Formats: sequence, structure tokens, C-alpha cells
Amino acid sequence: MNYLQQSFSVTFDYRVHFTNGLFDLFNPLFNEFLSDNQVEGENRKILFIVDHNVANHHANLLQQIAGYFKEYKTVELVEDILLIPGGEIAKNETEHFDKIVDAINNYRIDRHSYIAAIGGGSILDLAGYAAAVSHRGIKHIRIPTTVLSQNDSGVGVKNGVNYKNKKNFLGTFAPPLAVFNDYNFLTTLSNRDWRSGISEAVKVSLIKDKTFFEWIEATALNVINREKPAMEYLIKRCAELHMKHISSGDPFESGSSRPLDFGHWSAHKLEQLSNFEVTHGEAVAMGIALDSLYSCLSGRLPEADYDRIVNVLRTLGFSLFHPLMNVDGENSPIIMGLQEFQEHLGGQLTIMLLSGIGKGEEVHAINTDVLKKAAERLKHT
Ligand code: NAD
Repeated sequence: MNYLQQSFSVTFDYRVHFTNGLFDLFNPLFNEFLSDNQVEGENRKILFIVDHNVANHHANLLQQIAGYFKEYKTVELVEDILLIPGGEIAKNETEHFDKIVDAINNYRIDRHSYIAAIGGGSILDLAGYAAAVSHRGIKHIRIPTTVLSQNDSGVGVKNGVNYKNKKNFLGTFAPPLAVFNDYNFLTTLSNRDWRSGISEAVKVSLIKDKTFFEWIEATALNVINREKPAMEYLIKRCAELHMKHISSGDPFESGSSRPLDFGHWSAHKLEQLSNFEVTHGEAVAMGIALDSLYSCLSGRLPEADYDRIVNVLRTLGFSLFHPLMNVDGENSPIIMGLQEFQEHLGGQLTIMLLSGIGKGEEVHAINTDVLKKAAERLKHT
């Protein structure tokens, strides 16, 4: 045998904090985190990237950040805070990626400094990607400002941008250094974006935790009526289930299985086909309805369980069907989503279905006739 064996492992460790008023002067949390990570003799910088809509809705945010770093001088603030348009446009247009990389270059942000992104899942995905590929990986801090990014995307290990209309085609697995979920940001979300992120909680409950599903079932109206304690619980439990899953098996998805993508194979395609007029969370809700009905029609999921799922989605105000989900045959647009999903994952086609509430079951083929029936029935639901 003529080879050299190489083997090592790298441990990732990060906290997801829950707070209110992260940049209030009396809130020392963020500075304590920076102090704990400080190395003597090093002059670290921090570059902020902020979702433009968040800055518009929180008119004092930029001054607050400036004031915070005047008070707490642990690291040097780059005064030029980058504003990037919020929403999927941030991941679709390369100019926003370029703007961040140019700033990293111009302000000499090295691998001992920080990039802190404040915004929805789109901005966090973009900023995390720009950080991960610049200098082969700058430490990034996530400050999620939507329900979806606080309960799912912001607490995980992935980031990325879209390429030639394909979702997350470019991206990396790069865990954040820390995550700060500040509830105050959520108060300015539109009802649509408030609702949107709840679908990820329904998703994770359906594949992992029946008790959580039953909690959502019982409190759906409180959550949708923007009651703080209900939403705080939903976000924390959902984030916890996502984090547990990531650390329990295959964090960087080297296998073909991707249980957390229940309902997502059609959702990604639907977002793209609708030119991102359907939001990620809305598309996931429709994807959950489709895959739950498919699970039912293929004899896995009892009809009564399917009814409960649909009722919860409806109570939360989600649409369950979009005309782009019509299935006429093998070349229907949504079917192309299956192929793209498989290509994105690599390996064997693996789709998560349900055999009960709280019980996922993986399959490796989808029957187009059954899918057609499911789409047809959803259209008339
Ligand atoms: P988003 O980031 O697109 O934001 C939705 C809208 O809300 C935007 O217009 C944004 O500017 C605005 N907004 C954000 N915070 C606000 C606030 N506090 N007040 C008012 N407006 C605010 O939507 P999202 O649902 O957070 O994220 C969706 C993205 O996340 C998709 O691109 C999806 O693919 C990605 N995602 C990534 C992962 C992952 O693991 N990396 C997981 C799930 C989803």
C-alpha cells in the first residue's frame, strides 16, 4: 500500500441567544459575547450588513449600533454599515454579493474580524455565503429578523445564493459564530412574513414531534394573532428541533437523506416558477399539504391525520394550492423540481413523507399518477 492517511475532525460550537433590544445600551449581551471571543493584542473589526427593510422599519437601528460601539469598544465598528435590499432579490442579483466582498476588501476584514448580518433569511444566506468564501472563511454572526430566520434558517449551518434561477445553487456549509434572536425585530413584520415562517415549525413538528404539532394545533390562532408568548415558544421549540437534528447525524449533508426538507422539493420549484412571488414559507406550506396528501393517497398516512394537518395550515391562513402545482404528466413544471432536488442533494432521490403525525418516512421514488391525484384534490380543497 502506498498512501498517506489523513484524518481529522473539527468541532463547531455556537449559541443561539434569545433577547430583546440587542443594541440597547443597557443590554450587555452582544458586548459580552465579543469580549469572550477577544484575543489580547488583536484589533478586531466588525462589519454590519443590514436588510434595507429592517433599517427602514427600525429607524434608529443604525444610530443605535454606532452608539453601542462607542460605548463598548471591544471591537472596532466599520462605520459604513452596508444596506442590502431585503428578500430573494438579495440572493438573485450578484451585485449584492459583490458589494459585500468589496467592503470586506476595502475595510480589510480579515479572518479574525467579524461580519454581522441583520435581516431575513435571504440576507443571512447571502452574507453568510460572502463571509464563507472571502479569505476562505470569515467569522459570521447572525441576527435574524423574521420568524423563518429565527426558527430555522438563521440557526443552521447553511448559506447560499441562487444561480441562473436555481435556488441555493451556490453555497457552503459554514456554521455561524453565534446567533442573536431579538424578538423586537419581529414586531414590524408584515402579516404575510409573520405567517410565512410558521410553516417551518409545522414542518419540523410533523416529522419529529407530535406534541409540538398538537401545541401548534391548539395555539394556531394565538400565534397568528401575534401574541408574543405563543410566538416566542414556537420559535424556540422550532429552532431547538432544527439544531438537534443538525448535530445528531449528518450536519453537512453528505448522505442523500434530508428530512428537514419535508415539503421542500416542490416548494423550491414553486418559488422559482412563480418568480419568487410565492414566499419560501408559503411554498413550504403548499409543499407540506402536497406531500401529506401524497402520503395519505399512497396509504402511509391515515386520512384523519391528513385532515388535521390541512386544518392547521388553513387556520394559520396558508393557501394550499397554486396553479403552478398542476401535474399533467412527467414534464409538468413541478415534476422538474424532483429532478433538481435530487441533483442538489446528490445521490439517490430521497423524499421525506409521513407515516403519522410526528413520524417521517423516506421514499426513493414518487409515483406521478398519485402525485397528479394529490395536486388535483388540493386544487379543489
Ligand atoms: P426574507 O429574508 O426574504 O424576508 C422577507 C421580507 O421581510 C423581505 O422583504 C425583508 O426585507 C423583510 N423583513 C425582514 N425582516 C423584517 C422586519 N423585522 N420587519 C419588516 N420587514 C422585514 O424571508 P425569510 O422568510 O426570512 O427567508 C427566506 C429565505 O431563507 C429563502 O431564500 C430561503 O431559501 C432561505 N432559507 C434558508 C435556510 C438555510 O438553512 N440557510 C433554511 C430555510 C430557508
